[in-house]
Amino acid sequence: MAVQEPGFRDSVDLMFDRAVRLMDLSPGLEQKIRVCNSTYTVRFGVRLRGKIETFTGYRSVHSEHMEPVKGGIRYALAVTQDEVEALAALMTYKCALVEAPFGGSKGGLCIDPRAWDEQELESITRRFAYELIKRDLIHPAQNVPAPDMGTGEREMAWIADQYARMNTTDINARACVTGKPPHAGGIQGRVEATGRGVQFALREVFRHPEDVARAHLSGGLDGKRVIVQGLGNVGYHAAKFLSEEDGALITGIIERDGALVSDAGLEVEAVKHHLAATGGLHGFPGATWLPDGAKVLEAPCDILIPAALEGVIHLGNAARIQAPLIIEAANGPITFGADEILRQKGTVIVPDLYANAGGVTVSYFEWVKNLSHIRFGRMQRRAEEARSRLLVEELERLSADKNLGWALAPGFKEQFLTGSDELVLVRSGLDDTMRIAYQAMREVWHGRTGVEDLRVAAYIVAIDRVAKTYRSKGL
Ligand code: NAD
Repeated sequence: MAVQEPGFRDSVDLMFDRAVRLMDLSPGLEQKIRVCNSTYTVRFGVRLRGKIETFTGYRSVHSEHMEPVKGGIRYALAVTQDEVEALAALMTYKCALVEAPFGGSKGGLCIDPRAWDEQELESITRRFAYELIKRDLIHPAQNVPAPDMGTGEREMAWIADQYARMNTTDINARACVTGKPPHAGGIQGRVEATGRGVQFALREVFRHPEDVARAHLSGGLDGKRVIVQGLGNVGYHAAKFLSEEDGALITGIIERDGALVSDAGLEVEAVKHHLAATGGLHGFPGATWLPDGAKVLEAPCDILIPAALEGVIHLGNAARIQAPLIIEAANGPITFGADEILRQKGTVIVPDLYANAGGVTVSYFEWVKNLSHIRFGRMQRRAEEARSRLLVEELERLSADKNLGWALAPGFKEQFLTGSDELVLVRSGLDDTMRIAYQAMREVWHGRTGVEDLRVAAYIVAIDRVAKTYRSKGL
C-alpha cells in the first residue's frame, strides 16, 4: 500500500464518527460507546519440538452493554492489538444490528497455524484457552468466543473441553464457546452460517429493485458475475450457495497464490478440492490462472465479495475497482479512505456489520441451544408432521369420497409431510434475521436526511440500540 492510511481500528472509529455526526447522542455517551473497554494481552510458553515457544495472544472487550460479550478468535501472524480492538468494536455494532443479545469482543493469537501439526496446535490452543478461562475471558455468561480466520470447529471443541475440565460442575459449560462440531454441542448449519448469511443478504438486496438500481444493476442474482476473494470458510460457502442455488456465475476466485478467472463461471466445489489438494489455485484445469490475485479485485464484474482479510481495497486501488456492488463478507476489507472514493463513484457497499453477521447469528442459536440443553425441533418436529399428515389424508379422503379426481403435485406430499429439523430451523432463523436487519438499515438509508449509504445506516441502527441499552442502565 503506497499511501499512508489510518489503521484498522482508526478506520472503524472514523466510520463510527460519520454515523454519530448524524445522531443526537451526548458527547459522553458517544465516547463511552466508541472506546474499547479492555484488552488483555497474554504471553505464554508451550514446550514444542524440544524447546519452549512463546506465543502472544489478545482478548479485547469492546462493550459490555450486554453480557456475555461475543466475538471470534483469529489465528494469524498479522494479529495485533489494533486489529483485535477494531474487530471487537465491529462485533458490538454487528450484534446490535442483528439483535443478538451480546456485547462485542474479539480474540487473536499471533501464529501461523499451518506451521504446526494438529497435536501441537491442540497444546497451543488449550494453553491459550487456559489463560483466558482463568480470567473469565472465556465463560458462558461473560465471554463466548467463536471461530474466525485460521480457526474452526476443531479449535472450538478443544476450547470447550478445556473449559469443562477447569469447571467440572458448570452445567452450562458447553455454552462457553460457539462454532463447536455438532457432536461436541454445536449446532447444524454453523459452519456454513456466515457464507449462507452473505447469500441471504444478497437475496434481500435483490428483493428491493430500487436498491439494486442504485448499483446500476437490474433483475435478480441469476447470471450475475461474481468475484470472490478468499475461498476459506466464508468465501467458499458464499460462492457455492450463490452459484449452485441462485444461478450466479463465479467469474473470479482470488487466493493467496493468485487468481482463477473464467467468463463461463468456475465450479466452486472443484476449485475448493484443487485448493485443498495442492495448497493453491495454480494448475486448476479449464480456467485462466493469474499470479497477481489482488489485480483481479479490479476486474469487471457485477458483485465483488472480499471474503479473506481486512484492508484489501485501499487508497491505492479503490479508484480502479469496477464492481458496482460490493458485499463485505470479510471484516473491514475496505479502508475508510477507499470507502469515500467508492461512495463518490456510486458503488453500493453492503457493509461487514451486516454482511457477515450470519456467523454470530447462528452462534447465538447455538448458545441458546447449549443453555436449553435440547436440540431445536426435537419437541415439535413429529407433531408438525402428524398435523400435516392429518390435512393431507383429509384432502385425499374428500377427493375419493366425492370423486373429485384431485391429485397432489409430485413431491408436494413428501415435502409437506417433513417436519422441520434443526438445520431447517437454523436457516429459517438466519434468513429472518438477515431480512429484518436489512430492512432496518434501508429504512434509515432512504428515510433519514444526510444518510448516503448502507454503512452509515448500519452504524446508526446499531449505535442507537447500544445507546438505548446504556440509557436504560442509567448512563
Ligand atoms: P478462513 O481462514 O477460513 O479463510 C480465509 C481465506 O482467505 C483462506 O482460504 C486464505 O487462504 C485466504 N487468504 C488469506 N490471505 C489472502 C490474500 N492475501 N489474498 C487472497 N486470499 C487470502 O477465514 P474465514 O473464517 O473464512 O474468515 C474470512 C473473513 O471473514 C475474515 O475477515 C473474518 O473475520 C470474517 N468472518 C468470518 C466469520 C466466520 O464465521 N468464520 C464470521 C464473520 C466474519
